[in-house]
Amino acid sequence: MPAYRLLDWQQPGFAEVPVPEPGPGDVRVRVAGVGLCHSDVLFLDSPAGVLPYDVPFTLGHEIAGWVDEVGTEVDDLAAGDAVAVACMSPCGMCRYCVRGADNYCVDNWRGRGFGRDGGLATFIVARRKELVPLGSLDPAVAAPLTDAGATSYHAVQRVRPKLRDDSTVVVIGVGGLGAYAVQWLRLQTTARIVAVEAREVRMKAAETLGAHEVLLAGDGLSRRLREAVGPDGADAVLDFVGTDQTLNAAIRNAATLGSVAIVGQGFGTAPVRWGQLAHDCDVFIPQGATIAELHEVVALAQPRTSTGGVTIEVEQFAFADTPTAYARLRDGSLNGRAVVLPAG
Ligand code: NAD
Ligand code: ZN
Repeated sequence: MPAYRLLDWQQPGFAEVPVPEPGPGDVRVRVAGVGLCHSDVLFLDSPAGVLPYDVPFTLGHEIAGWVDEVGTEVDDLAAGDAVAVACMSPCGMCRYCVRGADNYCVDNWRGRGFGRDGGLATFIVARRKELVPLGSLDPAVAAPLTDAGATSYHAVQRVRPKLRDDSTVVVIGVGGLGAYAVQWLRLQTTARIVAVEAREVRMKAAETLGAHEVLLAGDGLSRRLREAVGPDGADAVLDFVGTDQTLNAAIRNAATLGSVAIVGQGFGTAPVRWGQLAHDCDVFIPQGATIAELHEVVALAQPRTSTGGVTIEVEQFAFADTPTAYARLRDGSLNGRAVVLPAG
């Protein structure tokens, strides 16, 4: 079958690979959609020796599709069922897994599309427990829920205990992940949402998705953010960018007893000292989401009349156009997650 792989470091391309066979407890999925995540750029750009993986491997970690064949011991899924595929394969036994924090499983230093074969191929095999039935959602659209949706959901759950009825939450970067953060906050909290974006088209999207106020990124961000959130600061700041400028604005505008989630891998830094970070304010770097959280995300995203479900913004690309889709992700010209369609 064809696959889009990291053939060698900094050398992505198409290659033929064997069709994977499901073992006991496994399911083979025909891949309908693969969302391209900004973290893929890190995998594509890293020279040899930087990341702890062996090449080659198939790229793509936001995966959804249809059940193709079930292995022995799997009796609750049938061919044709639509499923989301979790990014990770947690062991279930390590000290993090047994605490229900399987996103930090000791085996999760690699996952589908980074160190193990990912979804940019006709088929993928996963363990049954790593699949979440999609119900009425179309897997060619819903794939980004597995990371953009779930990772932002995890970050929102972490800050929720910090929020009060009249809280303000700042969301910096309303791209793939941030677009869902705004929506989870609207669905699950009463917070006033102040979004920050660098592109006008995404400022508009932030407003459409539910942000109450949207600021343009750039000069004077920290000061402008303080005017927008008020003198007490924001009870939570979710930074999906993570550059020096956004981190400084985040740290300086979080409230006493508040929290700052650094989700974006901009690798920026910000000084933290008395007078710069509010008292008892937590700063943390979350990664991914648990499989249980992916179940919650898929449940919340079902089209429902009471909430209207969730808006999944996608720009779909034919499998052969995967390099173009990555180029569009890189040059920042996408308005919605790029989703590649390996099944055509
Ligand atoms: P994306 O490219 O879809 O979205 C980023 C958005 O931020 C874009 O809309 C862009 O216009 C905007 N932006 C860029 N610079 C900005 C600035 N200075 N201020 C405000 N907005 C700005 O990216 P994504 O796929 O949503 O990923 C976001 C970040 O999260 C990336 O750094 C990615 O590596 C990281 N990530 C982290 C995890 C995790 O587990 N922690 C998981 C997935 C992705
Ligand atoms: Zn584990």
